[in-house]
Amino acid sequence: MEMRMPVYSSSELDRAEGAEIEALMKASQEPYPDPVAWLEEDIRKSVLVTSIDYLLNWGRRSSVWPVNFGLACCAFEMIATAASRFDISRFGMELFRASPRQADLMLVAGTLTWKMAPALKRIYDQMAEPKWVLAMGSCAISGGPFRGSYSVVPGVNLIVPVDVYVPGCPPRPEALLHGIIMLHQKIAKDTYKKKG
Ligand code: SF4
Repeated sequence: MEMRMPVYSSSELDRAEGAEIEALMKASQEPYPDPVAWLEEDIRKSVLVTSIDYLLNWGRRSSVWPVNFGLACCAFEMIATAASRFDISRFGMELFRASPRQADLMLVAGTLTWKMAPALKRIYDQMAEPKWVLAMGSCAISGGPFRGSYSVVPGVNLIVPVDVYVPGCPPRPEALLHGIIMLHQKIAKDTYKKKG
């Protein structure tokens, strides 16, 4: 059977072509959105760019675990700080640990005697790195009213490195909380890179 091809005149072809172009022009009035624009927006919502230092220090300062080291009258203010009125748990640290291996902050609250000093140093040495020490009250800072006594250490910093000093005899819980905030600021500036 013989195939017969349709025959168009040149004017018909021109009209068909013109109609096609008109239709495309009508349908092409708005530009297509940039295909990667939505991707950037999505990434902006989902990805946080920060440094390793910031991330580690944020985690460390948000969950400091103190080791219980009450030595004298200042310890009662420390205990009050942990109770509901002052609520130390607002700072992510309500768990006072009885074991140095589960703690990274030594809160020295009270009078340190030379007889007690080796125990304090041993407990400090047993704490895992990184670790911090807060000296609470005049006795812990300098021996306080007992400075010069044969039995009292004139400053905890003779035995272990101290990061924050909270003065007072005794300091109130608000002062201890302020010291803890100072410690948080100090931790925030720490660096992951090895020093020296
Ligand atoms: S600083 Fe004052 S309140 Fe604190 S342990 Fe010494 S004497 Fe007691």
